[in-house]
Parts: sequence; C-alpha cells; structure tokens
Amino acid sequence: MIHFDILSIFPDMFTSPLGCSLLKKAQEKGIIHVECHDIRKWTSGRHNMTDDAPYGGGCGMVMKPEPVEKALSAIRKKHQEEPTVILMTPQGEVLNQQIVTELSEKKRIVIICGRYEGVDERIRQHLVDREISIGDYILTGGELPAMVLIDAVSRLLPEFLGNPESTFTESFSQNLLEYPQYTRPAVYKGWKVPEVLLSGNHSEIELWRKTESLRKTRLKRPDLLKKMKLSDQERKLLEKIKLEDI
Ligand code: SAM
Repeated sequence: MIHFDILSIFPDMFTSPLGCSLLKKAQEKGIIHVECHDIRKWTSGRHNMTDDAPYGGGCGMVMKPEPVEKALSAIRKKHQEEPTVILMTPQGEVLNQQIVTELSEKKRIVIICGRYEGVDERIRQHLVDREISIGDYILTGGELPAMVLIDAVSRLLPEFLGNPESTFTESFSQNLLEYPQYTRPAVYKGWKVPEVLLSGNHSEIELWRKTESLRKTRLKRPDLLKKMKLSDQERKLLEKIKLEDI
C-alpha cells in the first residue's frame, strides 16, 4: 500500500482521475490511499496568498515557502513513517519506468505541485527529496504531472492490475517496446492478423513476439537497445532482423 499526499492549490483537479477506473478501484481495495491537500489551508493573512512577486523583479509569481513547509510539517505529524517528498518540476530528472519502479517500493509519497513561475528555490533546497519532470515541455501546473506519477507508480503495485504479468511484457519494463497486439476479428477490411498468432503454437508465438519486440525497438527507440543486455538469442534475432529490414 502506498499513501500519497498531494499538495496543490487546485486539489479538485484530482477528483475525476482518481474517481474513475483502476485508480478508483485501487483506493477501494486499499492498494493506494490518496489525500489531496489545499496549500491555502496553511497560509496566513487575510488573502490566503500562496504566491508572491519574485525578488529581483521579473514576470509572474512564485510559490511561497511558508505554506508548503507548514503543510509538510502537518502531514509528517499525522504519520509515523517518513515520506519521500517529490516536487513536480520541469527541471527534475525525467520520469521513466526505472524511477517509477523505485517509487513503487515506497510506503509514503508526498507530491508538491507547483504553479505560476514555480516554487521558491528554498523549497527545493530544504524540503524536497526528489525533483521529477514528466518531459521537456512546460505545463501550467504540477497537478497533471502528479497524476501521471500516481498512475504509473500505482499500476506496479501487487493486485492493482488483474493480470500482473502484463507489466513484465510492457514497453520499457526490459528496455524493449512491447510486441504488436491484435484482437478479433482475424481479418478486417482485408487487414490480416499475423498467421502465427492464430496457430495456438505457444513457443512459436513467444518467438514471434520477442522478434517483433526487438524489431519495433530497433526501429523506434534504438537508444533503448543500447541500454539493454542482450542474451545470445536476442543478439541472433537482431542480426536476422537487420538482414530482413535492409
Ligand atoms: N518557470 C518554471 C521553469 O521555467 O522551470 C516553470 C513553471 S511551470 C509554468 C509551473 C509548475 O508546473 C511547475 O512548478 C511544476 O510544478 C509544473 N510543471 C510544469 N511543467 C512540468 C513538467 N514538464 N514536469 C513536471 N512538472 C511540471
């Protein structure tokens, strides 16, 4: 079970993604628990300001350290277990399946969602264990990245998926893209499903899937293949694919 605490000034944004499908079921089954906190709760002053103008001038506003620090202290007091505190930021390490796997072993994760021009640098320096980006582009806030993170991490937890085996064959689990998938009908508009998949011959199907997985990765993500430790069989298959695809 992972307990997620989310710090955001728009906690309502999480209602729909967490209220549907597998993420909803995971909460009902106690596989994950998610608490969304409004950072405004920890503001002082009449206007409940979570942001202020940047020192030194410049455009936009910056999220103040005080409400975030107070929110984190309050969350820490509620639980014995020390959380991993993550800041969603385009300046962080870019999320990948390896990081997702590491995070799926945690018991408690706090996610800070930035807004405006981002957060006061002291939040990064003093309050955060890990900074994570979901890619080299800028979004308006950290809420969508936080949802991406929660979704990717949760689906690795035991019992989240009906068939946990699917996470072993999925793209990136072994630095390979997944093989092509087909379903009924076997022929649609003259477009045929590869014969081998209809054969019922499991070893042939497995070999075909491994070959196509290597072929796809070579074609679309050769960078992944470079990171992979190839078995003898995989090396031979790749040689064959190279000759076929010339
Ligand atoms: N001024 C900041 C910069 O240049 O690094 C960007 C701030 S962005 C408009 C506001 C917030 O959205 C960030 O603090 C962060 O929480 C979130 N955000 C935007 N893009 C993101 C990304 N690619 N990955 C993770 N979080 C992101």
